[in-house]
Amino acid sequence: MSHKLTVVIIEDEKNICTFIETTLANHDYKAVSAYTGKEGISCIASLCPDVVLLDLGLPDIDGIDVIRSVREFSSVPILVISARSEENEKVAALDAGADDYITKPFGTSELMARIRTALRHSQMSATASRTGGSVYKSGDLTIDFDRRLVTIGGKDIHLTQIEYKLVSLLALNAGRVLTYDFIINHIWGPYADSNNQILRVNMAHIRRKMEENPADPKYISTEIGVGYRMREPDN
Ligand code: CA
Repeated sequence: MSHKLTVVIIEDEKNICTFIETTLANHDYKAVSAYTGKEGISCIASLCPDVVLLDLGLPDIDGIDVIRSVREFSSVPILVISARSEENEKVAALDAGADDYITKPFGTSELMARIRTALRHSQMSATASRTGGSVYKSGDLTIDFDRRLVTIGGKDIHLTQIEYKLVSLLALNAGRVLTYDFIINHIWGPYADSNNQILRVNMAHIRRKMEENPADPKYISTEIGVGYRMREPDN
């Protein structure tokens, strides 16, 4: 490939920028760092990067406001870099239009995996419709979206209408975390009670049907305080 994928890093801690820049350069990406929110926004506008890595705690403007400004002109995937124990911030960032987050401290392989997932999703939405002949496959689990069929090791899993909607929503966004509110909005509509109870009950039923050990789920994991994430498909 002659064209290098470009990543803009918005982060005021220079040692983290350097670590990310080095990692990305080693994987043949072009990395550009910005140390403030405003600088970051103008970098994104001028470079049209393929992915953005964004720290939420910036010296000038709030990271959430950076996401909102960028979303006015770009759908570039935004990965938030956050500290552990900042569940509320993660949820706010995802709801403001971020695609995913990565928690400090993180290693090289986790960073690269998150970037690849973000790229895969943006390419998928760029090539538009995932309708028509699409199938999700991960380990023993297969979801045939056209036939609305879920199987584990070839055996049909009988899901209710709501359970199927939930599983297919997560599968179409596999690898990404979906917030509780996002899921509730999507399945039950904007006027639904934003209490997570109904979602948790449905997820418990789904896990009982799909997972070998529902207490240690293989396919759909819980991101505590944030939402659910479905395992990446094979391939
Ligand atoms: Ca910071």
